[in-house]
Amino acid sequence: MAEIEREAMEVDVVIVGAGPAGLSAAIRLKQLDEDLAVVVLEKGSEVGAHILSGAVLDPCGLDALIPDWKDKGAPLNVPVKDDNFYLLGEAGKMRIPNWPMPKLMNNHGNYIVSMGNVCRWMAEQAEALGVEIFPGMACSELVYDENGGVKGVVAGEFGKNPDGTPGPAYEPGMELHGKYVFLSEGVRGSLAKEVIEKYDLSEGHDPQKFGLGMKEIWEIDPAKHKEGSVTHTMGWPLGSNAGGGSFIYHLENNQVYVGFVVHLNYKNPYLYPYMEFQRFKHHPMVAELLKGGKRIAYGARAISEGGYQSMPKMVAPGVALLGCSVGMVNVPRIKGNHNAMLSGKAAAEAAHAALQAGRSGDELTDYETEVRSGAIGEDLKKVRNVKPLWSTWGLPASLSLGGLDMWTNELFGFSLFGTLKHGESDAAATRQASGFEPIDYPRPDGTLSFDRLTNVSFSMTNHEESQPCHLQLKDKHVPIAVNLRSYAEPAQRYCPAGVYEVVEEEGKEPRFVINFQNCVHCKTCDIKDPSQNINWTVPQGGDGPNYPNM
Ligand SMILES: Cc1cc2nc3c(=O)[nH]c(=O)nc-3n(C[C@H](O)[C@H](O)[C@H](O)COP(=O)(O)OP(=O)(O)OC[C@H]3O[C@@H](n4cnc5c(N)ncnc54)[C@H](O)[C@@H]3O)c2cc1C
Repeated sequence: MAEIEREAMEVDVVIVGAGPAGLSAAIRLKQLDEDLAVVVLEKGSEVGAHILSGAVLDPCGLDALIPDWKDKGAPLNVPVKDDNFYLLGEAGKMRIPNWPMPKLMNNHGNYIVSMGNVCRWMAEQAEALGVEIFPGMACSELVYDENGGVKGVVAGEFGKNPDGTPGPAYEPGMELHGKYVFLSEGVRGSLAKEVIEKYDLSEGHDPQKFGLGMKEIWEIDPAKHKEGSVTHTMGWPLGSNAGGGSFIYHLENNQVYVGFVVHLNYKNPYLYPYMEFQRFKHHPMVAELLKGGKRIAYGARAISEGGYQSMPKMVAPGVALLGCSVGMVNVPRIKGNHNAMLSGKAAAEAAHAALQAGRSGDELTDYETEVRSGAIGEDLKKVRNVKPLWSTWGLPASLSLGGLDMWTNELFGFSLFGTLKHGESDAAATRQASGFEPIDYPRPDGTLSFDRLTNVSFSMTNHEESQPCHLQLKDKHVPIAVNLRSYAEPAQRYCPAGVYEVVEEEGKEPRFVINFQNCVHCKTCDIKDPSQNINWTVPQGGDGPNYPNM
């Protein structure tokens, strides 16, 4: 294909991704200097369309960024009123009282929010300050300068044919060049992945760990609705098959967020995270709550779980990684939005200082120092051993030793364990199918539980079909020749949107089919494929889920 010519636009800071990290960076830059040219590029059709979080928000990030957020009408309308934690068995439950929990686990002072709506509101604040936000603009490539530093991105390329050649309505998009480029793509960002590999930023750090989070919004019987109520569970149905748990948050308007997270370091390739979630809703405690209600939205997204010891180096020449592109989730609290906001603020402050000093295109080392030694590092350091304890010894150890470790960290600032390692990557954790029996999951009943494709229609996801498949196989033979033979091709089960199928017809070789139109951009395939053969790239802008108030 001939070299593509694109127009280029020069700004001070280019920000990829309008999540809490990217928007915080944009707001802070303009608070510091209204004359800076700042653009935010977002692949969703609008800000918030691709945002999926729990979410119980710790407002410390917002307090630091926009102290008068209440007066400015931020959609933090539901303070947490009660906090419940249960261990589930198949039919029963045991409440863990709040008093032995470390203080950091307390949700008092936090808010149940739609992060999609919080991001929509943050985008309004950013625009009022003069930030230019372009939704529907997927950033598909990085642009490097002659010294190998990052100088920009390609955004808004549309209309390619399925084979990658320009179609009749082809638009080449444009290059956005910045003195600094911030990648705030969230967990497993595709450009961030390239930067991490190119500059070997993971060197000396543990591999990043992940979970798959699936979530439904339910409208329930008003008599059962308890605005402000927060419940977390662990145990059934995952048992010892995998780490993970659930969340049930009562927001406004008789709506409830029901979510389920499965840690992606599970070994058994027959495990079917989506069906575990569906099964969970049949627990008597959950079924009773949802009975008579209706599911109004569905979505899924990976969540970073490596925390403190997995954060890669987060700066390279001209570029900084923000929020969950680094992985800043405090796992036992299941919270990362506050750290995403704090990281955006820190990156903006470092870039502003650099620009004032006449610098550009270098490494914003002050940003990294602030993340590791400031509030974010402090938050993540205290809980750094909970996930490795869970992965190695299971749920009881995570609750007892992990709990003790959080206490000693909180009270005395030290850990009995030092810093435990995470070990292998989630892809490498998958074991051969020959060591396991297939798991027989109950069929969804269509009332409490739903088949995957029906649920995907409630994510309102949409992809123009006449474009190249954005889920790229490095080797097209691997899914059948390696993954099917050795791992019963787990992509059929780990994808929460039914994108991957193995079609077996009599007298024919099995075929691997990718229904990329269903993709909800969770990135689990890029993370969990045991052969690391799937590369998640951005489809054309505006495609993907259209979440309402996730
Ligand atoms: C199921 C689940 C429950 C959670 N619960 C909570 C909770 O209760 N409380 C909490 O604090 N945290 C929670 N988290 C974690 C929280 O969601 C993350 O920490 C947070 O979203 C990170 O923010 P971010 O800005 O880094 O990334 P994101 O919020 O993921 O935003 C990234 C944005 O960048 C866009 N983007 C990505 N790539 C590109 C590209 N190449 N071009 C253009 N745009 C792009 C995306 O569309 C998206 O809008 C939860 C996460 C999950 C999955």
